[in-house]
Amino acid sequence: MDSLENNLQGVKTRIAAAARSCGRPVCDIVLVAISKSHPAAMIRAAFAAGLRDFGESYVQEALDKMQALNDLAITWHFVGPIQSNKTRALAEAFDWVHSVDREKIALRLSAQRPRTRPPLNVCVQVNVSGEATKSGVSPEEATKLAHAVAKLPRLRLRGFMAIPEPGGERAMQRARFEELARLKRQLAAEGLALDTLSLGMSDDLEAAIAAGSTMLRVGSAIFGARATATA
Ligand SMILES: *Cc1c(COP(=O)(O)O)cnc(C)c1O
Repeated sequence: MDSLENNLQGVKTRIAAAARSCGRPVCDIVLVAISKSHPAAMIRAAFAAGLRDFGESYVQEALDKMQALNDLAITWHFVGPIQSNKTRALAEAFDWVHSVDREKIALRLSAQRPRTRPPLNVCVQVNVSGEATKSGVSPEEATKLAHAVAKLPRLRLRGFMAIPEPGGERAMQRARFEELARLKRQLAAEGLALDTLSLGMSDDLEAAIAAGSTMLRVGSAIFGARATATA
């Protein structure tokens, strides 16, 4: 587990350098460790190293790990594609869902969020130009969906999320991220203040921070390469 601590230190150093170079306080940026395909023991080690936020992409895999780790005060984030028959499990078990891309899904999550828990934190996933996955609404549709989500009683709309295509020049990565920052400003002008941009992964966290990311989703730079090729 030595390398996990080294990796985490390396990621923190990158975040601090990127924040400093654009004059942003590091405390405005939450690091979510994306632990999909890694075992519960790895998450336990990362928790011991100081991480509290973990993100998963597959519902059943996540539920199994939550069970194994229920003695730890973890904030759980769901970042994967959402099937409508999985919304109840998401609404019951997670603290955040980053990948809301249809009103139907938002309605189900709100209806199924247990009364005993605070409203579910959600982001609307936006398909910025060049996005590798097909998930996410277009920037044009994003503001409409955001207004609809904001009205749902058991959801708390926090912001936008995007997964741009990996690679490319930093300037190109940043231009894609800036599209989301622009959407956030537009919504603020329309009277809907949001506090979250879920942007940036292992390869592009510097560009994301420069564009205003408040939540980084970092997997391989912390845990090492994933054994299976999961998206
Ligand atoms: C896997 C995944 C990540 C982490 O990607 P890395 O390149 O390993 O940092 C971030 N966000 C989402 C939505 C993912 O599926």
